[in-house]
Parts: sequence; C-alpha cells; structure tokens
Amino acid sequence: MKKKNSSSVKAPDEKRIAALVKELLVELGEDPERDGLVKTPMRVAKSLAFLTRGYRQNLKAVVNGAYFKSGTNHMVILKDIELYSLCEHHMLPFYGKCAIGYISQGKVLGVSKLARIVDMFARRLQIQERLTEEIANAVMAESGAEGVGVVIHARHLCMAMRGVEKQNSEMTTSAVLGSFRTDEKVRQEFLSLI
Ligand code: ZN
Repeated sequence: MKKKNSSSVKAPDEKRIAALVKELLVELGEDPERDGLVKTPMRVAKSLAFLTRGYRQNLKAVVNGAYFKSGTNHMVILKDIELYSLCEHHMLPFYGKCAIGYISQGKVLGVSKLARIVDMFARRLQIQERLTEEIANAVMAESGAEGVGVVIHARHLCMAMRGVEKQNSEMTTSAVLGSFRTDEKVRQEFLSLI
C-alpha cells in the first residue's frame, strides 16, 4: 500500500467514530445509554482524533524554519523527552522517554522543535522500532546533521495489562545515522551522555 503524504490526510469524522464506538460498547456487553456512558462515544472519538493527529501534521510545518546558525559541530543532546504513543497491534498506549543527539553542520534545531518532531510521529499508530527510526530520519533531514542518534525507552500497556502481563519490562530501541553509525567513538560519546 502506498503511504499517504501526511499533510494530505483529512481529519477523521468524529461523528462516525462515535457511532462505531457506540456499537463497540454494545458488543462488549455495555449499555451505551446509561448515564456514565452517554457521552463516552464522542469523548473517545475526540480523544482518538487527538492521539492520531500526527497523521495530519507534516515535518516542514512542525519545524517551521526554526533553525539557529552555529559555528560549532559538537554534539547536541536532548534527553528525557516524554513520549506517548499507541501500539499499532492493540491500539493500547506505550509511553516512555526519548533521547536525541546529533552533530550539526552549522545548523541547530530549536529544542522545542525536537520535542514536536517526537510528538508528530508518536501521535500515530506505531511500533517503537519504526517510531525511533522515523524520528532519527526526520532530525537528519531537517538539521542536515552529519550524524543522528535516537534512543527510546518505553513501557507497553499491551504487555503489562494483557498477553504476557509483564508489568515492569521496558523496551529499548535505538537508531543511528551518519557518523553515529560509522564512527564508534561518536556513538560511544552519545551513549555515555544519555
Ligand atoms: Zn501492542
């Protein structure tokens, strides 16, 4: 299937999602007309629209030209970026922290922009491995860096609440590009700093 251009994805029809959620409630054995649930379908629809809004964002608009010129080409690191996403297998949350490092070639991205890039890809149905790679590729493309490294530590509710019911396991994924991939010393410096 051809991947849609993210900026061309239209906003979801919240009324239709709400109707589907109402059917889902019935199928689960609930009464969607009872007090506590009357407004739930529309709440779920709005919540899902928010949690998947990354499909309707695009990188250029998110970064919006927020670069700073910098003479140095030292490593820039932003860590402990909070991350909340939904796994594409169960549509259950996974959440954790992301660290991004890159070596600029004269162009530095604003710190808040790095966090927005993380959100743009996290607010979609994801697997942690792809999320990590997409963030790395986006930072590389937008900063023109000589190398980029991204590490994510996350807990998956689909593992904690169901399936193997492992409440305390944490998954770690990393993606390294450019000099972070080819230069062992650069990679080690990154890993020791995060
Ligand atoms: Zn899952």
